[in-house]
Amino acid sequence: MALSLTDSSLLQTGVYIDGSWSDADSGETFAVTNPVNGDTIAEVAKGGVADTRRAIQAADAAMGAWRSRPAKERSDILRAWFDLLMANQEDLAMIMTAEQGKPLAESRGEIAYGASYVEWFAEQAKRINGDVIPGPAADRRIVCIRQPVGVVAAITPWNFPNAMIARKAAPALAAGCSIVIKPATETPLSAFAMCELATRAGVPAGVINVVAGSARDIGGELTANPLVRKLTFTGSTPVGKTLIEQCAGTVKKTSMELGGNAPFIVFEDADLDAAVEGAMVSKYRNAGQTCVCSNRLIVQDSVYDAFVEKLVRATAALKVGNGMEDGVNIGPLINQQAASDVSKLVDDSVAAGASVALGGGMHDLGGYFYQPTVLTDVTADMPVFRNEIFGPVAPVTRFADEDEAIALANDTEFGLASYFYTRDIGRVWRVGEALEYGIVGINEGIISNAMAPFGGIKESGSGREGSIYGIDDYVEIKYMLMGGL
Ligand code: ADP
Repeated sequence: MALSLTDSSLLQTGVYIDGSWSDADSGETFAVTNPVNGDTIAEVAKGGVADTRRAIQAADAAMGAWRSRPAKERSDILRAWFDLLMANQEDLAMIMTAEQGKPLAESRGEIAYGASYVEWFAEQAKRINGDVIPGPAADRRIVCIRQPVGVVAAITPWNFPNAMIARKAAPALAAGCSIVIKPATETPLSAFAMCELATRAGVPAGVINVVAGSARDIGGELTANPLVRKLTFTGSTPVGKTLIEQCAGTVKKTSMELGGNAPFIVFEDADLDAAVEGAMVSKYRNAGQTCVCSNRLIVQDSVYDAFVEKLVRATAALKVGNGMEDGVNIGPLINQQAASDVSKLVDDSVAAGASVALGGGMHDLGGYFYQPTVLTDVTADMPVFRNEIFGPVAPVTRFADEDEAIALANDTEFGLASYFYTRDIGRVWRVGEALEYGIVGINEGIISNAMAPFGGIKESGSGREGSIYGIDDYVEIKYMLMGGL
């Protein structure tokens, strides 16, 4: 185990239920490996149905006292959690890069980004206000209060091992809910470290629980158990659809942050250098493994060649390697399946007529490293245009006019993030309103922050994370009619 941490107790490996770490009920474990070289970082308890049930029961038992605490107390505890996350930023980033592969600078950034949601919801915890509404008769008043939805289950992916949990756990705890988290099997160590710090911050036993292991078993119990009132999920659209079906049996509320197929439109009046800069950060962050990554660069005819030239130059300068090393921009993909999927999308698109302007295959480093790649002459029928790529591949498509750009951008079942570059204020409004997406970045390539509502439409999901709206997913509105006044 080569990980050298300042605080080695952050490297936990058990299931965390009702305030204590233990082995899984089955006694089984699974290996968490480093995608750079396949080395085992830790053996981790492989949770299943029994562990999950115990975690749900603990969450249910703990919730009454937690929701009854004054909002200020929950706020103070969340604020203390934020402080501890930031105080341990370096250790948390090391754990993340080891299990996930992203460059250390990006891991540090994600810790701060995840923590910003904890800080934000520490503040919002004090603002879960209700309404008093004039009644239908002189002696009646309508009172609305917002109450915690109940025990929350969270299922999270490996691409943001910290932030996807922070964006769910922080509003849940702020609202007075307790939570059971199933982190991705690839990246449970980041989740465990967060729980360890939550406990140190004063989150009571049972309010936060984490069980890693079999997705099918844990997911099955989380979605079937009637004590769970809400499922919040970030991951792929197919798994999201399965989970929605599974939740139907007990009519759970769901929030779904699913796949994307983000268009990045460059109009001829755009500042091309700014557009290339935006495309680079949006496309290649986390080796292209984010649901808001630009998936399709859609560029107007008259600036197409100039844009491609600048993009190829910038992409060729990216350094691929072990994320622990200084100056590396692109780490490995998460696993062999990811590498095979990206290879197939590129190969099939090239076979269908796309041209390789840069890269186009696995990297010389071997393993799961893929070359930063630019494809040109991409058309709307090609696999790289239709599917979420989740790799460092930038496909570039041409368009003639604004109507065609909008039609191309909306030609997908997904509707999470979109981007466009123009300096025409009329076009900013027209295109901004016409894009069928939950998020629109205008002359910006990085759109996510704790103050803004993150979420998709169409098959990209439902619900919003962060912002003043983010609490809504974790509360129910209760209406009380005050009569006889
Ligand atoms: P990704 O493509 O980002 O890995 P997935 O949807 O496959 O997205 O995985 C996201 C999360 O969903 C992970 O924690 C994974 O273990 C979990 N998951 C996958 N399949 C299921 C399932 N059938 N039931 C519950 N959780 C699942």
